[in-house]
Amino acid sequence: MAESIKDLRIVIVGAGMGGLASALALAKEGFKKIDVYEYAADLGFVGAGIQLAPNMARILDRLGVWEPIAREATNIKDTSIRQGSTNEELGHVELEYIAKTYGYPHMVGHRFSLANSMYQGCLKESAIKFHFNTSIKSIESFGPNPVVVAEPRDGSSEPYNVEADVLLAADGIKSNIRVEMLKLLNVDAQIIDTQQAAYRIMIHRDQIKDDPELLALLDSDTVVRWIGAKRHIIAYAVDNKNIYNLSTTQPDTNFAAAPSATYTTRGSKSAMLGVFGDFCPMIQRMLNHVPEGEVCEWKLRVHAPLPTWVHKTVALVGDACHPTLPHLAQGAAQAIEDAAAIAASLSRLPDTNPATINKALRVYEKIRKDRAYALVEMAAASGRTLHLGDGAAKEERDKQFAALKQGNGKVPDKWADADVQKSIYGFDATKETLENFDEIFRGLEEDQVVNGVNGH
Ligand SMILES: Cc1cc2nc3c(=O)[nH]c(=O)nc-3n(C[C@H](O)[C@H](O)[C@H](O)COP(=O)(O)OP(=O)(O)OC[C@H]3O[C@@H](n4cnc5c(N)ncnc54)[C@H](O)[C@@H]3O)c2cc1C
Repeated sequence: MAESIKDLRIVIVGAGMGGLASALALAKEGFKKIDVYEYAADLGFVGAGIQLAPNMARILDRLGVWEPIAREATNIKDTSIRQGSTNEELGHVELEYIAKTYGYPHMVGHRFSLANSMYQGCLKESAIKFHFNTSIKSIESFGPNPVVVAEPRDGSSEPYNVEADVLLAADGIKSNIRVEMLKLLNVDAQIIDTQQAAYRIMIHRDQIKDDPELLALLDSDTVVRWIGAKRHIIAYAVDNKNIYNLSTTQPDTNFAAAPSATYTTRGSKSAMLGVFGDFCPMIQRMLNHVPEGEVCEWKLRVHAPLPTWVHKTVALVGDACHPTLPHLAQGAAQAIEDAAAIAASLSRLPDTNPATINKALRVYEKIRKDRAYALVEMAAASGRTLHLGDGAAKEERDKQFAALKQGNGKVPDKWADADVQKSIYGFDATKETLENFDEIFRGLEEDQVVNGVNGH
C-alpha cells in the first residue's frame, strides 16, 4: 500500500482529452506518481477543429493551460442556423452574453492547440511520465491493486506488467478496459450504431482567397450550421482564422457493413459532394476545395449507458464511458469534467485503503454519470430535430425558428439555446465535487469485493 495519499501510483491508459486532463489535474493536486500509457507514437490525430465551451475553459484555466489555447482560438460572437439548400437564415443567436454570464467566452479552436497545451502543461510536472507507443493489451486485475499488461509497439521489450493503486481507463470509445469490466460484471451494454457518419474538413485561407463569400465566412466570428434532411454541416474559423473548419453529419453508408472496429476511412470526394448535392451553390464551392484524397469520414458510434463506471480501484473516463454524438460539441469537455471530478475526489481521500479509493472513485461517478448521460441524450435529440425531413415535425420546428426571429422561444438547435447553455456551461465540475464529496462519500456503502483478488 502507498505510504501516503500523494504517493499513490496512478496509471492512466490513453493520452487523449480525458487522459491528458486527468494527468494534469492529478499532478496539480500534488499526486507524485502518474504514468500515462498511450498507444500512439505522439498526440495522435488532432487535425480538426473543436469547440471550447466555458465549462471546459474554466477547468483548463485552473490547470494553467487555457491561455495559450485561447490566444489562438476564435471568440464566437454569434451563431447562424441556415437552410442548407438555400443558405436562408432560419435562426440567429447572439452568444456574446456567454463570457459575462459564465466567466469564459464560447471559443472554437484547433484540436492540436487543446491537446498540445494540456500536454505541455503535463511536461512541466515531474510527477507525470508518458509512455508513448505502448499499448495496454489487457487487464490482469481490477484490484485491490490493478494490473495491466503493457506492450511497446516497437518491440523494444517484451510485454510487461504495470501495477497501480488507481487505474484510469481514458482509452476512448473502443476502450478495452470497459469491455473487460462489463464482461466481469456481467453487463450486457453494447456499442450503438447511430447510423450517422461525419466528414471533418479543413479549408485553408489561400484556397479561398479569390472567393469573397467564403472569405467572409472565414473572417467572421460566427458558427454557422447548415441543415437539411438527415444531414448538416457546422463550420467555424480556427487557427487565427487561417482555417475554415467544417464538421458534417450524414447517414452512414460507408461503414454500415464495416467491422465495428472501423472508425475512420478515407472517403471519396465525389461521394461527399453527392451527399450535399442539394445544398446551395456556395456550399458546393466550399466542399469542392477539399483536395481529392483528403476526404476523411468518421463513423459516429455511441454506447448504451453503463450501470457503473467504477470497479474496485479502476474508473472509466471520457468516451470510454460516455461517448456522444457531436451535436452539442461536448465530448471532450465532458472528458475534461471527468478529469476535474476525479482529481477533486482523490484529493479528498482520507487514507490509501483500496476500499476508500473505490468510494472516492464512486463519488466521481455520482457527480458525473447522470449529467454526462443527460447530455448524450440531449445531443442525440438535437440531431433528430436538426435532421428532420419534410412533414409536420419539421413544420413545427420551423415555426420555432420563426418565433426565434421575433425574439421569442427556444432554439431548436439545443447547442445554441440559453437554458441548455445554462445547464452545461454553468456547471463547475471541480466545485461540485469538492462541495458534495463528504456527503456522497459518507452515504456510500463499502464495496465488499474491492479488497478481494477474486473475480479479477
Ligand atoms: C465529428 C466529431 C466532432 C467533435 N467535436 C467536438 C467538439 O466540438 N467539442 C468537444 O468537446 N468534443 C467534440 N468531439 C468529441 C471528442 O473528440 C471526444 O469526446 C474526445 O476526444 C474524447 O476524449 P477521450 O480522452 O475520452 O478519448 P480519445 O480522445 O479518443 O482518447 C483515447 C486515447 O486512448 C488511446 N488508447 C486507446 N486504447 C489504448 C490502449 N489499449 N493502450 C494505450 N492507449 C490506448 C488512444 O490512442 C487515444 O489517444 C467530437 C467528436 C467527433 C467524432
